[in-house]
Amino acid sequence: MTGEKKKKTIKTIRIDVDKCNGCRACEVICSAFHAAPKYSSNNPARARIRVIREPYSDIYVPVYAGDYAPAECSGREKYTIDGKEYDECAFCKAACPSREDFKEPDSGLPLKCDMCEGEDEPMCVKWCLADALILEEREEEVEEEGEEEQEELEIGLESLAKKYGLQKVMDSIARMSISKRGAS
Ligand code: SF4
Ligand code: SF4
Repeated sequence: MTGEKKKKTIKTIRIDVDKCNGCRACEVICSAFHAAPKYSSNNPARARIRVIREPYSDIYVPVYAGDYAPAECSGREKYTIDGKEYDECAFCKAACPSREDFKEPDSGLPLKCDMCEGEDEPMCVKWCLADALILEEREEEVEEEGEEEQEELEIGLESLAKKYGLQKVMDSIARMSISKRGAS
């Protein structure tokens, strides 16, 4: 179904790998910002960004958490950078059944970068003193939010409930709303 077009501001974060020094401030602030209540704790395992670190080769690569993938992918990539071979899946953004990355440690629920919804500037961008993370904004014409989006949301929730159980999903939503109330 097609709806009306409207202008939307699309925010992206450009990652300048050469500038990243592996300090992990982005992981720390992301986890603190999303803690419930906000800033009550910090645990990089809860961050929606993860920095792949190879200090001996001076290689640091920030990777943002993307969409949850309900099934493992059939093909995987191996990267060799400066002679160091990285695990398959090392640079993947998805939380998926075959690894623990980008999953909430307590509940196992998938984590996804939400661009620090409500903030003018994402916290990781603000805290990256090396300027390795740069916020970019552009205007795009998109479909009005409508039935299609609702359908996608329902399919997403259904697959999460199937995978993790309805109670875990409900607990997580409750935690998120507590965190939002703490923020307001
Ligand atoms: S805060 Fe910036 S420099 Fe530090 S690890 Fe994150 S992206 Fe790299
Ligand atoms: S934009 Fe916000 S949610 Fe996304 S990784 Fe950065 S701090 Fe975390």
